[in-house]
Amino acid sequence: MNHPPTGPSGSPPGTGPGPSPRPHGLSGEGTPSGSIARSVAQERRPSPASSQDARRYVNLWTEKEALNGERTSAFVLILKTRGCYWADLKGCTMCGYARDTLGRSATEAEIAEQVERALLEYHDEPYVKVFSSGSFFDPREVPVASRHALASAFRGRARRLLVETLPEFVDQANVGALRESFGGEVEVALGLESAQEEVLRRAVNKNSPPSSYFDAAGRVHQGGGQAKAYLLLKPPYLTEREAIEDTVKSVGIASQHFDTLSINPVHLQGGTVVEHLYRRGLYRPPWIWSLVETLVRSSEVRREGTRLVSFPTSGGNARGVHNCLTCDRGLLEAIEEASLSQDFRPLRSLPSCRCRTQWEWEQGLESLGPDAN
Ligand code: SF4
Repeated sequence: MNHPPTGPSGSPPGTGPGPSPRPHGLSGEGTPSGSIARSVAQERRPSPASSQDARRYVNLWTEKEALNGERTSAFVLILKTRGCYWADLKGCTMCGYARDTLGRSATEAEIAEQVERALLEYHDEPYVKVFSSGSFFDPREVPVASRHALASAFRGRARRLLVETLPEFVDQANVGALRESFGGEVEVALGLESAQEEVLRRAVNKNSPPSSYFDAAGRVHQGGGQAKAYLLLKPPYLTEREAIEDTVKSVGIASQHFDTLSINPVHLQGGTVVEHLYRRGLYRPPWIWSLVETLVRSSEVRREGTRLVSFPTSGGNARGVHNCLTCDRGLLEAIEEASLSQDFRPLRSLPSCRCRTQWEWEQGLESLGPDAN
């Protein structure tokens, strides 16, 4: 799943870019070990929360968005639920959302109170996005009655409701039923991350292959909804160049199945395999130059009509996508503008910076392998 854990600007302070650690590539040493993933998963899982904690949502905020070509604002709500079942077992290498969960299932009354509190902050934003740090359609996270109560609460006030889920919980009936309760457009987001099976299995550590996500997108469409996929830029164990190529290739493949593709550069979340590697000098979040190249090339290979966006979390911060931290702001603003306007041509002629040479130089060094210096 890909919601920002603390909101668009809620990120830790930066410490400078530093030299890029050299990943070893999927064919070399350092591929994910089940023991790291399992021990990280055990450490981050919270103890069962009190009823008082369960009556408060994790976070909410508003953000810029576009809806059917029109600029608008979105209301984002993170519910506190039991969270993702896969995160309990091993979890994905970049995901630390289990820390935002209850450690047990929420009751209908607890979810109702979270929604009631959130509605006090809702000002009829036309786009509403609801995340549960897992799967909205998993009844262990959001009971079926709570799903429909939530959708009804925004009925007539919002035009589009987005929820996120793993593919195994999507069927035509539950998408159709949500549309009926809401009465507007329903968008179902799936954390595909990569359309390449080996990257998904070995670097991201997802529990389903890309084909499961493509099939789920088909079921979303059958239920009358729109399908959105999140693609991850630079999972661990890939070089910077491999990561760019993986995402561009994934856009070409996934755009055949999804209406919107959102490219999310990895940001370091606590209690994850990626953070474990970062602390040992084995991982650097992607460069903004990489994101720029990825977006420019992706805009050329996507299926016509597929919406392509990127709204990075912790951008311009050492724990998120960053350059030298001096040119970052201007580039991130250009990326946001391209995502809202769907015009990626301006990204081809951005002002350069001396860190661009370092970005190119480090890619050359990475290509020589882990022992080059
Ligand atoms: S599927 Fe992976 S990314 Fe999504 S919530 Fe579960 S562990 Fe996190």
